[in-house]
Amino acid sequence: MSQSNLKRSSTMESSINPPVPGLRSLSEMQFDNRFVRRLPADEDIRNMPRAVRNACYTRVEPTPVRAPRLLAWSDAVGELLGVSRPARTADPVIETLAGNRILPGMQPYSARYGGHQFGHWAGQLGDGRAITLGEVLCPDGIYRELQLKGAGRTPYSRTADGRAVLRSSVREFLCSEAMHYLGVPTTRALSLVATGESVVRDMFYDGNPKAETGAVVCRVAPSFVRFGNFEILAAQQELETLRQLADYIITEDFPELGVPGPSMPSIYVRWFEEICRRTGVLLAHWMRVGFVHGVMNTDNMSILGLTIDYGPYGWLEGFDFNWTPNTTDAQGRRYCYGNQPDIALWNLARLAGALAPLVADHAGLERGLAVFGEVFQDTWGRMLADKLGLATLGREGDDMLLSDLFDLLQQTETDMTLFFRGLMDIPVDQAAGSMDDIALAGLLRDAFYDENQAFEPMQLARLGGWLRRYIARARLEADAGPSAASVDPLADASATSAPGAMGTGRIERMRRANPKYVLRNYLAQQAIEALEQGDASVIERLMEVLKHPYDEQPGQEALAQKRPEWARNKPGCSALSCSS
Ligand code: AMP
Ligand code: MG
Repeated sequence: MSQSNLKRSSTMESSINPPVPGLRSLSEMQFDNRFVRRLPADEDIRNMPRAVRNACYTRVEPTPVRAPRLLAWSDAVGELLGVSRPARTADPVIETLAGNRILPGMQPYSARYGGHQFGHWAGQLGDGRAITLGEVLCPDGIYRELQLKGAGRTPYSRTADGRAVLRSSVREFLCSEAMHYLGVPTTRALSLVATGESVVRDMFYDGNPKAETGAVVCRVAPSFVRFGNFEILAAQQELETLRQLADYIITEDFPELGVPGPSMPSIYVRWFEEICRRTGVLLAHWMRVGFVHGVMNTDNMSILGLTIDYGPYGWLEGFDFNWTPNTTDAQGRRYCYGNQPDIALWNLARLAGALAPLVADHAGLERGLAVFGEVFQDTWGRMLADKLGLATLGREGDDMLLSDLFDLLQQTETDMTLFFRGLMDIPVDQAAGSMDDIALAGLLRDAFYDENQAFEPMQLARLGGWLRRYIARARLEADAGPSAASVDPLADASATSAPGAMGTGRIERMRRANPKYVLRNYLAQQAIEALEQGDASVIERLMEVLKHPYDEQPGQEALAQKRPEWARNKPGCSALSCSS
């Protein structure tokens, strides 16, 4: 990939953006840096790899880059922050988004955290390439951090370079926004800037280092604090700082729990329960949309229950509980699709261990862990019911119906997204009775990667048999009307394609639980390859389509197809590493 190609052109360069009323330039933003103001800073300001003590963060400035160029911008996140899209290539705002220009009021820092990586305590990790520029009080009354990822070395960089490559930055940018529109709690992304510098990476750690295009993403969230921020303080016995950080997060991000203090000894347990609850909801959403995070280390677990740190993530194509896109995890498959809920619980137990010094009532923390299981099971169960268009999944035989479905999907390579979306086309009225197996299975034809296998007589009979049981089950409640129990996966996503107006009948509930458009792994790769050639049209089209993942969007069906065969084993499409 070449820097010169990237410089040549993009639709960004020529686009004219009329000012949106109520928005102002990022350079006019007012910053109010709560984290820096309220929490202890590292007294040492040397920017060199070292063990940091008695601090939540270190002040550090981004390292300037040679030739920043804006490649992508999220208008929706801009509006959230109240800032307008930079108008020109030469807009000084782009210098800020690349880390070249610190604005008045910004107080850049990198956070100190540790973490358990692949099941083992890894000690200090910290923001090795992420630098928070500052915090802003947004028009909706919520504080949000602006954080640059790939902004250069920090005291937490260890032996790495503090930079990020374009491919992983595009993937983070696109997926943050796609997840938001799917209704999945997530950090957001404002901008993607090419640095004009190359970064050397050995993508598959196989002795083939290459110079790749460097990039910086500006990401946005109320907080980027992770489980690991607490773990490092507990591990180092910095208990006063641990309490300070916990009190800060509760006060700022969980105000509904009350004000921490000596008169509120139970607040930490209630807070932990809430973290467990949010994590349970998050995991149910990941399972619903077929998202595999890929590196669920405790340093990649948000204390707010958001999806955070998009690395070697992937979307299920063929449904497979054992699938992980992360080649670094190919042996153990610790972080594969089906393990994610168990891993979240394991991670929450590590967090409970870190919070234990603050809590006399250790049984309370155990109860919190139980809350995770209950919330996950309940939410995932209701989401599955919605995916299948059933009011609930509590009837006799439902467990078997589900496990047989998962067996079927696992046996024949079946696209998860297309299968569930296709179930909406299965008639559950009288007409279904007259359809034979071929006719029924034919309605799901698009979902099968190998039609010969799916329509082989034994397999066809099994699928047909299952579909008939499913139809009979759906008919049991066909006249029962909308379900009070159903969850609205979009309830938290303010700016989605919000259906609502079309009512909440069976098909509508299925539609809202089963996206048509997800960020298929090969689609992200196509956007990356086009951008590397200077063509931003692919990423821009994807961004637009992924804003309405539950809508049909006539004319965009090409982006809802199953993975083409050429992408089956292509690096970046099916196999990703931690290299980023
Ligand atoms: P990850 O598994 O990507 O979440 O990263 C684990 C740790 O490695 C975190 O502390 C990151 O900040 C750090 N890290 C990852 N890549 C780099 C890099 N290129 N330069 C410095 N630190 C990095
Ligand atoms: Mg990380």
